Amino acid sequence: MCRLARDNLRHGLPPAGQFLKNHQMLQELQLAAQRWQQLPPTRRGIVIIALPVCCLLGTVGVLMWFSASIASYERWVHHTQRVKIEGRELLNLLINAKTGVQGYQLTRQPGFLGPYHSAVAELPLTLENLENLIRDNPTQLAHFQQLKSLVTNVLDILAKHVTLQLNPFSEDATQRYYVAQQLEQAEQAMDRAHAAIDAFLMEEERLLLERQQRSETLRRMNSFVIVVAVVVGLGSSGLAIYWFQQLHQELDRRGRRLEAACDRLARFTANASHELRAPIAAILSHAQVGLLLAQEAPEQCQLRLEKIATLAKFMGQLVNDLLFLARYEGASSPNFTTSFELVTLLEQIAQEWQETCTANHAFHLELASISAVVRGDRDLIKQAILNLLHNAHRYTPAGGTITLRLEVAERFAVIEVRDTGMGISATALPHIFDYFYRDERVRQRGIHGSGLGLAIVRQIVDLHRGRVAVASQEDQGSTFSISLPLASN
Ligand code: ADP
Repeated sequence: MCRLARDNLRHGLPPAGQFLKNHQMLQELQLAAQRWQQLPPTRRGIVIIALPVCCLLGTVGVLMWFSASIASYERWVHHTQRVKIEGRELLNLLINAKTGVQGYQLTRQPGFLGPYHSAVAELPLTLENLENLIRDNPTQLAHFQQLKSLVTNVLDILAKHVTLQLNPFSEDATQRYYVAQQLEQAEQAMDRAHAAIDAFLMEEERLLLERQQRSETLRRMNSFVIVVAVVVGLGSSGLAIYWFQQLHQELDRRGRRLEAACDRLARFTANASHELRAPIAAILSHAQVGLLLAQEAPEQCQLRLEKIATLAKFMGQLVNDLLFLARYEGASSPNFTTSFELVTLLEQIAQEWQETCTANHAFHLELASISAVVRGDRDLIKQAILNLLHNAHRYTPAGGTITLRLEVAERFAVIEVRDTGMGISATALPHIFDYFYRDERVRQRGIHGSGLGLAIVRQIVDLHRGRVAVASQEDQGSTFSISLPLASN
């Protein structure tokens, strides 16, 4: 036995094989639940309604079948009872006939022949009834044919006997001997007929018992099926109600999400128009003043044109940002197939950054000594880091320090952009990732921006199933960190 299994047994745990089996079953269940969630709501609705309806129809069908079977067995039980009654009637008639003849022989009183005559009259009808009743049972029909010939034989012997008795010469010795012999024959024939009727009735008794037992078994099964149907019905109805509630909640959630998205879209459109209208108005005003000053003060006109160019550039950037946000808005995280090394990316960014932007700030790069491979889109991650670096650059006065740092913590790579700039006020901090949000302090200081840079960062990080966080103190500086899951996970 392997060590794991031995340890498990010692600690009263299930063996490893069992554990794996349970684990596999659990995974399959989770998969089935996921597939169920992925089905369109209409299909789920159909299944939810179909489940109790099918249970109900199935139960009704099974119960109808049981009722029909029970009724059929009841009919057969009744039929067998009738056969038994007719069989007993036959036996009684034979006994009556024989007793009547014997009574007459002993007393010589014709009144004793009454039962014999009525038995002779009734017997053909009883035999016919019996034959009709057992016509469908070939075994009993064969028995009946035998029995019928025995009965006929007994009746013949009794009839001959009666004829001899009524004969005036019967006092003759030969005749008396003949009568005695006939009576003996009648006795023997009667015994055989009796035995045949008994055998016939026993077979009917067996059939009766068998049919009663089957009928009883069906009744018990019927009760059991009713109990099972009630349990299954309650269970399926409960399940249907539960699923229905879930579907209702999900549709409710979707509705709320849709409403929120519509709200966001409305706010986004209003903000976007506002942000675009302001530079357009400025461009228009610069263009009008520039046109007026074109002749008298060409250098003023030149200044206006430069401002128009700056504003147009800003608008271009704003439109780009808006397009970017619109492209990825509400998109679920894709399954990235490519992975890349963050250390190399950060080295590249740092090199490009130092070549262009570090004139007024000290810049440090601190890298993890181990590799940090993440899965995702390298260009998007680069854009997110650059957005943070640009902010650090814009919101840190000259002489400040900007640090780009990478460390690996547990199963995440953490990229940090730290600055020693103006920091963010506590009231602004919860809103800085919202679209178009800008801290009042940066507006007052005349630092331009669109308020979309951090929203883009958050969207990129969300797409990579990562997290973005910020820690900041006014006039002390800010630290933005992006955590991305390592590719090995
Ligand atoms: P923008 O910088 O164009 O205004 P962002 O979305 O990038 O838009 O930033 C939103 C706001 O967050 C900024 O207006 C600013 O108030 C604040 N902020 C972002 N980064 C920093 C930073 N490094 N230091 C101080 N404030 C910052």
